Amino acid sequence: CNNHINSCIDSYFRSHICIDSHFLSDSNNSNESYIYNFICSESERGKIRESKNDKIRTNSNHNNLMSSKDFDITKNYNQLWIQCDNCYGLMYKKVEMNVCEECGHYLKMTSSERIELSIDPGTWNPMDEDMVSADPIKFHSREEPYKKRINSAQKKTGLTDAIQTGTGQLNGIPVALGVMDFQFMGGSMGSVVGEKITRLIEYATNHCLPLILVCSSGGARM
Ligand SMILES: [Zn+2]
Repeated sequence: CNNHINSCIDSYFRSHICIDSHFLSDSNNSNESYIYNFICSESERGKIRESKNDKIRTNSNHNNLMSSKDFDITKNYNQLWIQCDNCYGLMYKKVEMNVCEECGHYLKMTSSERIELSIDPGTWNPMDEDMVSADPIKFHSREEPYKKRINSAQKKTGLTDAIQTGTGQLNGIPVALGVMDFQFMGGSMGSVVGEKITRLIEYATNHCLPLILVCSSGGARM
């Protein structure tokens, strides 16, 4: 039975890793493809940005070259498009599996995006969501008190710490899932991350659930 579950999960991931080559031509949603085409043509005309072959430009240059009206347009479309870190290609934000259509580079994902991608809709049950760091040693780093750094990371990400754990179904299979979030202090492990992973493993063991950990961490928090 375990073998069966493993092979199901395996084939599920494999099917998702394959990039749909027909993704561009096969957009069923005419609205989405309209927006996509609009953004592409705008960028081709150089209104939003110059062609992707220009490679890196600094932010200050970028702003100077644009009128405030253009900047507003750019701000609005920030919600809609993303840029590849590798080839600087522009693409519509809901890109298939967060894989660059131009070069196949894996784009950054938040922990929530990862959960949304992996877990069947409506089946996610988060665990220990309210667990927060207590800072018992009143740690002061050179820049800022630890407590302050935690607070600003919480504000920035909307998370309590650098991992989300819980249970849900993956293609109908009950699983325990933990996803680290690099945006929260580099996905680093403090007391909360350690405790949540331990509890998740214990829960999965006790309930005979397959355990999946998505690791994106700079290491231990120091
Ligand atoms: Zn790319």
